[in-house]
Amino acid sequence: MAKPSRRVTPPDESEALAAQIVEMMMSYGQAQFGDAVKAYWVYAGDLCPGCLKRPIDAMKYKGKEGLAINSFIYRECGVLIGYLLCSQCAKGIYEATPRPDDELHQNIERNLIAAYHRYLASLDA
Ligand SMILES: [Zn+2]
Repeated sequence: MAKPSRRVTPPDESEALAAQIVEMMMSYGQAQFGDAVKAYWVYAGDLCPGCLKRPIDAMKYKGKEGLAINSFIYRECGVLIGYLLCSQCAKGIYEATPRPDDELHQNIERNLIAAYHRYLASLDA
């Protein structure tokens, strides 16, 4: 599980948080999606994958009922992708009537998939 190129910064709160998220995802991912899940990945970009404008500020609330940790199954690759949102987008999701096909979800999924492919490309570099 060694990472090829380990960045030194930032120290390591976000990395620890990402590890926590992966653990949470693993605990329910298999149950929820079964064999569709072959891998887990946490989006750790600086910008919210919902709007690509605001930073992921929901992370400030870590420890508080897992606030904005979401996950999305990228079936084509069998990857369960965990992500956090900015508070604006998180609000939009939690306060809106759930409509999985709405624009925000489409943006999130598209941005996460793009980010995942950038990540895969960075592994090959
Ligand atoms: Zn956002």
